[in-house]
Amino acid sequence: MRLKKLEMKGFKSFAQRVELGFETGVTAVVGPNGCGKSNIADAIRWVLGEQSARSLRGQKMEDVIFSGTDRKKPQGLAEVTIVFDNNAGMMSVPYQEVAITRRVYRSGESEYFLNRDRCRLKDVKELLMDTGIGKEGYSIIGQGRIDELLSQRGEERRLLFEEAAGIVKYRTRKEEAEKK
Ligand code: ATP
Ligand code: MG
Repeated sequence: MRLKKLEMKGFKSFAQRVELGFETGVTAVVGPNGCGKSNIADAIRWVLGEQSARSLRGQKMEDVIFSGTDRKKPQGLAEVTIVFDNNAGMMSVPYQEVAITRRVYRSGESEYFLNRDRCRLKDVKELLMDTGIGKEGYSIIGQGRIDELLSQRGEERRLLFEEAAGIVKYRTRKEEAEKK
């Protein structure tokens, strides 16, 4: 499964709509300090459902909305769309291309969309389960994550291997069934 595209509008330093295309092979983002490199990584984690404003380097969720500059007025909402190639069918939806969108308003309310249709965060999470993508996935390795993994207890570390083996959804379903 491949990341094809990222669109941001009103997200952090990206006031206007910005579209980044990812070709096959390695993509590197370079630029001077403060130009928005880490904001791109934040946008990816955010659209995949990140709920912690602090891990996105803010105080509250509203901080991801473009706050304005001397010449540009603030935006009322932030929107990010991430597009994956699903030709291999890793996500169990009948689409060759999957677009996940998240939108947040100044009120703090978030909305999620799957190929432009409104959905719940739960739907996004289920879709990403066992793909390696997402907050708990191994596709995003942040600073300090390797150290964290090495110092984790066995059970905590097992989660990562379960995700890689593609069995998280079965454990989650079992846990949900046991709750009922
Ligand atoms: P470095 O090389 O130092 O790591 P970077 O390219 O990773 O820099 P970022 O941290 O992505 O830079 O971007 C920081 C910039 O984003 C700052 O100028 C900050 O003011 C701006 N920024 C963050 N949140 C917002 C927001 N809500 N509205 C407007 N600008 C924002
Ligand atoms: Mg940075």
